[in-house]
Amino acid sequence: MTAKIINGKVISDFFRSEYKLRVDRLISQGTRPGLAVVIVGDDAASQVYVRNKAKACESIGMYSEVHPLPATTRQAALTAFVEQLNANPNIHGILVQLPLPKGLDDRAVIEAISAKKDVDGFHCANMGALVIDESPYPPCTPYGVMKMLEYEGIPIEGRHAVIIGRSNIVGKPQAMLLLKAGATVTICHSKTQDLPAFCRSADILVAAVGRPNFVKGSWIKPGAVVIDVGINRLPDGKLCGDVDYAEALLAASAITPVPGGVGPMTITMLLGNTLKAAERAAGIAGTTDPGETGLA
Ligand code: NAD
Repeated sequence: MTAKIINGKVISDFFRSEYKLRVDRLISQGTRPGLAVVIVGDDAASQVYVRNKAKACESIGMYSEVHPLPATTRQAALTAFVEQLNANPNIHGILVQLPLPKGLDDRAVIEAISAKKDVDGFHCANMGALVIDESPYPPCTPYGVMKMLEYEGIPIEGRHAVIIGRSNIVGKPQAMLLLKAGATVTICHSKTQDLPAFCRSADILVAAVGRPNFVKGSWIKPGAVVIDVGINRLPDGKLCGDVDYAEALLAASAITPVPGGVGPMTITMLLGNTLKAAERAAGIAGTTDPGETGLA
């Protein structure tokens, strides 16, 4: 068997064109969705991510502003800056690029963002809503994974989904979203005993570890769907995922590549969450979750 390759770029374009129509409609009603991105310090990789986010906003007609702050910024000054953005009516979504430099408290800054503008979905109120019922802003990476599965018509209900990784930004929210979609969910992590055995029982395997080519082909149940969230830089400068792609291709029924899989969906879901925040601020009724209008 050779797996179907799930093309994150194509799926991303599908959602972005739908968002563009909604942005145009909102602008015609007097509201231009706006995203503010705050970046503290001068980490080169983070600067690239931030620029890409701003460019993506502009590509569908949204407003974006990037605020680079020096690495010496104090916690109180950062909180005060976020509070100004909370009060700015032109800004509907606020994203603080994480991790923050040493000495700054990531969690305290996330909690300073208004839950209504928390388009990353990391605020306690939105995380809590995700666990209890449904967050208006599901965290972008796991939400993008769900949208890929939905777009590809991959059944989730009743399936066994195994997630490797328990981070707050990927593993845990991914588990909640898959649970809500009716999967039986297992979360594996660094202390899990016999990880390959758990993986072999997965109908849907999500790898979010941060180790290149960690998941072997022999760990994959024949016909499973493999979602590779990992982004790892190899010594030769190339990017690769957490899954041994060449091996997995022969075992899985469908797989996401790296690059070109989950990565593009993460930024697209950020656009969707920001758009949704703007629609809510404008009091537009009947707005569905980002992207849902285009799919049966
Ligand atoms: P993290 O470091 O916060 O979490 C990694 C998880 O892997 C931990 O929960 C840990 O328990 C688990 N783990 C580590 N070693 C393990 C082992 N030997 N066996 C089983 N589990 C193990 O990382 P994260 O922020 O969740 O990101 C994970 C990966 O996903 C990284 O490569 C990151 O770059 C990537 N990522 C990609 C996107 C995207 O847009 N595609 C977004 C976020 C993160």
